[in-house]
Amino acid sequence: VRRLPDWLQAQALRRPLHPAIETANGVLNYEELLYAALSCAASLYDQGLYAGQRAAVLLKDSYAHTIVLHALIQLGAILVPLNWRLSAPELAYQVEDCDAQLLICDAQTMSLAQEVNQSYRFPAGVIEFAELQTKGGRALDVFKADIDLTAPHCIVYTSGTTGRPKGAVITYQNHWWSAMGSVLQLGLRLDERWLVPMPLFHVGGMGVLLRSLIYGTTVVAHNGFDVERVDKALAYEGITLVSLVPAMLARLLDKRSDPYPDTLRAVLLGGGPAPKPLLERALALGIPINQSYGLTESNTQVATLMADDALAKVGSSGKPLANVRLAIDSPDGPTSMPRVEGEILVQSPTVIAGYFNQPMATEHAFRDGWLHTGDIGVFDDDGFLYVLDRRTDLIVSGGENVYPAEVESALMRLAGVQDAGVVAQANATWGQVPVAFVVLKDGVELTDETLAQWRTRLRELLAHYKIPQAFYAVSSLPRNASGKLLRRELREWVKTRC
Ligand code: AMP
Ligand code: MG
Ligand code: MG
Repeated sequence: VRRLPDWLQAQALRRPLHPAIETANGVLNYEELLYAALSCAASLYDQGLYAGQRAAVLLKDSYAHTIVLHALIQLGAILVPLNWRLSAPELAYQVEDCDAQLLICDAQTMSLAQEVNQSYRFPAGVIEFAELQTKGGRALDVFKADIDLTAPHCIVYTSGTTGRPKGAVITYQNHWWSAMGSVLQLGLRLDERWLVPMPLFHVGGMGVLLRSLIYGTTVVAHNGFDVERVDKALAYEGITLVSLVPAMLARLLDKRSDPYPDTLRAVLLGGGPAPKPLLERALALGIPINQSYGLTESNTQVATLMADDALAKVGSSGKPLANVRLAIDSPDGPTSMPRVEGEILVQSPTVIAGYFNQPMATEHAFRDGWLHTGDIGVFDDDGFLYVLDRRTDLIVSGGENVYPAEVESALMRLAGVQDAGVVAQANATWGQVPVAFVVLKDGVELTDETLAQWRTRLRELLAHYKIPQAFYAVSSLPRNASGKLLRRELREWVKTRC
């Protein structure tokens, strides 16, 4: 099977009046969503966007993001969801890498969009969502009536250990199999209401939009994480499923002392490691936490710890989904033996075929028929997966990846910095934050004034969450014989000295 009936058109036929999306703009049922998507697709077509081309999307507004996602599917154009927390040069790199045809923004992201357009000229320009809405295009006959499962749906940028972003090409069949893996784990209610307070530009948020479309159920999408709004939705608005990153759960629990109603049947926790005390607090409140493990390259979760096992296996990411094979890389090859520590390997129809235009990186990550995750893990005697550490150097701060190499290269551009090394420091709110060790140039001192100047300059180069929260001046950095920075030693310094 290579083609399926278009997913949105199918739901508009099956359940036309069933709520499809609920946002700050109200509720759209499946028929209304199809109409909105077709009309937006027609405007995009008139703007000069055609099937197979990449459309960069820089939208904070979740209504706009959702309509555009569906419009691009109707048009057969490829979604490139951009992280609006990145700086203009970071975004310019991504849109240039994939030759994006145009950029869709909203009122809140307009100035950032214009800035990106100054270094990379979009052939069909920058267009605001509100403007697309008023245009209402004509070319309705160009839309396809089915879905080619092997076609790319989107390109999601993720950074490697080198810090250079790579475009993960996610196909329709990757989404289909993610939806199947998830539903075999969680089951399905026809009146499912899945809340996403997470950004829609990561696979975690986007996956909920695609799954709910495939099931014909309802997505409730907030505009960013507002702890009061989420708490109220879980307590009073009949939410059955919610996706959260650990930092969001921590903030919810800080203000919650009563259980949520039983209608809330699973809290999907992913995107990074969850501290044990946090899980214990949630379980004590009877919150049905499903800790999961996944990557952009596997199009979300590949393993999940069900709420029933949560107490017995606190800290585990559970067992592989029904359509996933997991193994640990050992000197004797991939193994599923207990108590062997090594890199986690994944085989699944949800795993992407590769990175956009990066054959070398693709060959490296997907060699020998396995996705090499770069994460270190171990199975226990009952087959439960424990993720021990990330690719040694990656910092995950509030669910966002911070790549030390990228931060270091920005630090090296500061006047006064001779050498720099960046590692994670544990942080109660964000899980981890980046901190920097710097070797100062002769005559430079680490004064408040210097730090203020550095922060201003760094803000121009990097997203806010990548800026080191602390700077430690040292006389030299630990390096090996070939000059490679030994971040492992820096991590020891953080533990012992800071
Ligand atoms: P990304 O590629 O940006 O989606 O981030 C995926 C990375 O997040 C993984 O490679 C892990 O390093 C980390 N991660 C995701 N889930 C977990 C988990 N349950 N425990 C520990 N680390 C996780
Ligand atoms: Mg990754
Ligand atoms: Mg992440």
